[in-house]
Amino acid sequence: MSSSPYEWIENSLIALHRAHRYRSVAALEGMAGATIQRQGQRLVNFASNDYLGLASDPRLAEAAIAAIRTYGTGSTGSRLLSGHRELHQQLERAIAALKGSEDALVFSSGYLANLGTIAALVGTPDLILGDQYNHSSLRSGAQVSGAKVLDYRHRDVAHLRDLLETHRDRHRRCLITTDSVFSMDGDLCPLTAILNLADTYEAMVLVDEAHGTGVFGERGSGVVEHLGCSGRPLVPVGTLSKALGSLGGYVAGSQPLIDFLRNRAPGWIYTTALSPADTAAALAAVQVVQQEPQRRQALWANVNYLNQSLNQALEVSSGPRSHLKQLPSESPIMCLEGASAVSVMEASRQLQELGLWVSAVRPPTVPTSRLRITLMATHQTTHLDRLVTGLQSIKDAP
Ligand SMILES: *Cc1c(COP(=O)(O)O)cnc(C)c1O
Repeated sequence: MSSSPYEWIENSLIALHRAHRYRSVAALEGMAGATIQRQGQRLVNFASNDYLGLASDPRLAEAAIAAIRTYGTGSTGSRLLSGHRELHQQLERAIAALKGSEDALVFSSGYLANLGTIAALVGTPDLILGDQYNHSSLRSGAQVSGAKVLDYRHRDVAHLRDLLETHRDRHRRCLITTDSVFSMDGDLCPLTAILNLADTYEAMVLVDEAHGTGVFGERGSGVVEHLGCSGRPLVPVGTLSKALGSLGGYVAGSQPLIDFLRNRAPGWIYTTALSPADTAAALAAVQVVQQEPQRRQALWANVNYLNQSLNQALEVSSGPRSHLKQLPSESPIMCLEGASAVSVMEASRQLQELGLWVSAVRPPTVPTSRLRITLMATHQTTHLDRLVTGLQSIKDAP
């Protein structure tokens, strides 16, 4: 008994290295944006979720600074115990208006919003059916809830129906969970079909709009609006940290639902309220989303441009980069699947040498290794051209 009870940690790290699954964090300098500075090198940023470029918008910064001056930096306690600020309510009303719902509730992160909402909506006697590619926060929420959890195959409505047919009757409540835009693939959930099944089998539906809000829909409300499902019964959850350029999460819904969550969601009750700065920045962002549709249009123009260029580039390349395969995408998230973890890491490294920051995403985050490209409204055409040229120049790992 001479070994330390902590020794396994180092062994686990060694195993991660061996499997090419070890991950580390890059330190960036200066302002967030379409280009960023890293260790003195300027990189075009294809690794950010700041779709509208709002994380560096001076209006958000001014709103945050004013909130700190007025209220201070910390929220000092949970809202039920220590009270909240007018700002929190203003933000919740603004989100409700954006989503076309009666009310909304903001959480300290999107992760917590999913965890807290799922665990409040279902428990041990209940059933959760989730898309197999759902975000980690939906999976964790499902586990924490104690409900029976079954995955249906990615976007496979027939499989979802089979599972409902077989298992629904044996459970009290049923909750179907899905990303609206799949965060590591960029495709969309078949929402209309899911909602129809939910009607038939008396199931609730929770839709994670983390990558939808501000990006999809005429009004920027999200994929629910984009797919014509506004007004149908469902629970939209999302984050303030992506297109909204701040930090925090939200759930929108009916007055009773929100009231219930305020009383029953531990991830909201037992944690400190969103900071004044984050709250004010998110509020300013919701206003920009509503008042400046041109940002969304610029983003989608970039998506269309890159899709066309990539199609052409990958079509003519039967040579060394044919090992990169574009996965189906309907969003500003575009993925190029590679042969292995090593090959996508090597591709990402070569792109970095060319001043292009594209992340390599590997198992266990995703089933197959890939380059993940995210576009912003503030990317210029020259940025996109450089990316395509860069991708064409990638040499396969020796
Ligand atoms: C980023 C993300 C979250 C978590 O949101 P945070 O505010 O960053 O905690 C939840 N769901 C999906 C699909 C996401 O991509």
